[in-house]
Formats: sequence, structure tokens, C-alpha cells
Amino acid sequence: MECETCDNVAVISTNNGTFCADHFKDNFEKLTLETIKRYELIKNGEKIAVANSGGKDSLSLLYILSKYFKSSNDIISITIDEGITGYRDKTIEIMKRYCNQFGVDYQIYTYKELTGKTMDSIATIKKGIPCSTCGVLRRYLINYAAKEAKADKVATAHNMDDEAENVIMNLVQNDVQKMIRLGAYSGVVRDEDFVPRIKPFIFLSEKETMLFSILNGIDAIHTPCPYAGYGFRGMISRNVKRFETEYSGSKRSVIDTMLKIKESRKTITAQKINKCKHCGFPSVMETCEACKLKIELQNTHAV
Ligand code: SF4
Ligand SMILES: [Zn+2]
Ligand SMILES: [Zn+2]
Repeated sequence: MECETCDNVAVISTNNGTFCADHFKDNFEKLTLETIKRYELIKNGEKIAVANSGGKDSLSLLYILSKYFKSSNDIISITIDEGITGYRDKTIEIMKRYCNQFGVDYQIYTYKELTGKTMDSIATIKKGIPCSTCGVLRRYLINYAAKEAKADKVATAHNMDDEAENVIMNLVQNDVQKMIRLGAYSGVVRDEDFVPRIKPFIFLSEKETMLFSILNGIDAIHTPCPYAGYGFRGMISRNVKRFETEYSGSKRSVIDTMLKIKESRKTITAQKINKCKHCGFPSVMETCEACKLKIELQNTHAV
């Protein structure tokens, strides 16, 4: 199989094209920059906080944003340490190494500081799927960290697989409000206490982000979180992959359908956003989900 741009052997063939290593890297960066431009994700002079787990996707995003936007924007890195032994401690070391290499300042915020407990401890206390609790706390802390850093936007490395999974999860849960908050530029309602999220990789697959990180020598660990793969998301993820194998292009179609629904959102009434009575951050309820968890965990005596 030959690269569609030169005579070299192709290393990948996806719906975005068939490329040799060099042309794949060029095309990956081009598609990322096109998404940023098309959805006006980054404006000149804005401070961008990259949500950086130390994994391949977020390091690739940090690499591209520092390469193309460091001269015009302030790029910083924010990492959430859930407190997962043998997993996050390793990725944090990698995150620090690459932030130093790319010349980007980093900050780390922990679940332990927020709730008094690590995720390992929370997983033994809370019944049900650890990821549900973890997701609430992470979203909260990322927003908190971005506000503290006075960032204009939070850039996350969600790829096409992640986004297609999010769409399907919301469809299955019949949650249109949550679904129309997805997309390259998250959210519908703007609020000064909520730092908007941008996702420059949502039109690039997991396979492509993985290859991009490898070809750029980003040696992130590929060991999954010990709590990953359980529950609803794990099941949706396996099925989205199966769908893509049998019907190539389905992930992209799922996202495009969601974007069309989002476009027509003028006919959908945006949910009213209140402020949490404890922390003051945007919340649909009187007490936000993170504060509810915080109160519950602080009243639980386990380490
Ligand atoms: S896989 Fe689940 S528990 Fe692990 S970091 Fe992700 S959301 Fe948290
Ligand atoms: Zn080529
Ligand atoms: Zn709150």
C-alpha cells in the first residue's frame, strides 16, 4: 500500500487518508488545526489550559498546541491526580518530563485535597462503578484549576472514539441536554464560572492519536487504569469499536449526527443553570454533584 501523497510505503489507512509516516504526521496536525480554525476554538492571546493526564493523547495535544500556539497564546498544563496507585503516579512522572521538554508550566490538583480521600479509597467506599464518581470529581477539579489559572479555555484530548461513545451513552440514557453540550466546543450556555472546553482531536480516531504519539517518540505508558473497562462506558466502547469494524465510518457519522442536532438547538430550550450553594460553580441542582460527593466522602471514615 502506497502513501497517497508520495511513493513511500503507507503506515496507516483510515477515512482521513492513506499515508506514509511523515505525511500522516503532517495530515494529523493539519486536521487538528482545521478543527481549531473551523470552530474558532483558540483566539489570539487566550490562555489555554491543557487537561493533561500524561497519556498519549493529551501529550500529543500539548505537543501540537505548544508547537503552533506558544508564540501567540499562553499554554499551561493541568493534571488531576485521582490517587490511583501504580497508574496515575506513573503518568504524572511522564507528564512532568514532557512539560519540561515542551517548556510548558504545569499544575497538579488532587482528589485527596478536594475530598480528603484518594480514588483508591473512594472505590472501596462507593458502591457502583468507580468511573461515575471519578468523572464528576475530575470535571469539577479541571474547571476549578482552570479558573484558578485564569484560563480562557480548557483543551482536552478527547478523540473521535471518546466522543462517539459520549454521544451513544447520552442517546441510550435519553439525555438530549447532555448530548448537545458535546462537540469540539463544549456547552450551550456560557457562564463566567464555567471555563469552556475545547476538543481539537474529535475528528481523529484513537488509532490515529496512538500512531501520532508513537511517530513523535512520545513514550506514554499504555497500561489502562485498573478501574477502566467496567460498567456502561466499557460496554458502549466495545460496541462502538465493533460497529466501526463492520461499518467503517460509523464513529464519524455518530458525531456528525450529534452536531446536526446541536446546530438545530434553537428549537431545544437550554437548561437553566443555577449556582451551587456550597461552591458557587454552575449546577443544575442546588448542590452540585461534586459537593454532594465531597460531603458524603468527608462524612465517611475510611482512609
Ligand atoms: S478509568 Fe474510571 S476510575 Fe480510572 S481514571 Fe478513568 S474515570 Fe477514573
Ligand atoms: Zn508520503
Ligand atoms: Zn458545588
